[in-house]
Amino acid sequence: MSEHDKIRELLALAAADALTSAEEKQVAEHMRSCIACSNELGAWRPIASELRRLPTPQPSSWLVQATLARAEVKLTEQAEHDWNRRVMIVSVALAWLLTIANWLVFHFVSGRFGSLLEPKFSPTWISFAAFTALGWLAGGVAAVMLAIRHRGEKRLA
Ligand SMILES: [Zn+2]
Repeated sequence: MSEHDKIRELLALAAADALTSAEEKQVAEHMRSCIACSNELGAWRPIASELRRLPTPQPSSWLVQATLARAEVKLTEQAEHDWNRRVMIVSVALAWLLTIANWLVFHFVSGRFGSLLEPKFSPTWISFAAFTALGWLAGGVAAVMLAIRHRGEKRLA
């Protein structure tokens, strides 16, 4: 195989900048003395640059994208579910805390320990029930406020 034939085989790769530095040197040296190879490399150059401008074929790209999108949706749903559950736990805990606080306050204010345990509709019992309801209402309002804030943050994200 002559030097000329060897170089001719490398011309397409040379145009694509895919040669090793040793091969590049070899091609450049041959170019100086061979007009045929020089012309052929000149013909290869625009083809190579056109090829380089084409998007790299990635047949599975859309599948990867779709899978990623699906995974993201699932993760978002999971996060939302976790968040809703946390809001529920917090609101229930808050309601219970308020209920217990009310109960302690009533004990303290009335100064009549044990009266709350009497199974009759005394004014104390009615007030206590009202305050308990208020406590639950506050818990619900807090949950709704948290949910609204959460939705607002999500819209910004
Ligand atoms: Zn040549």
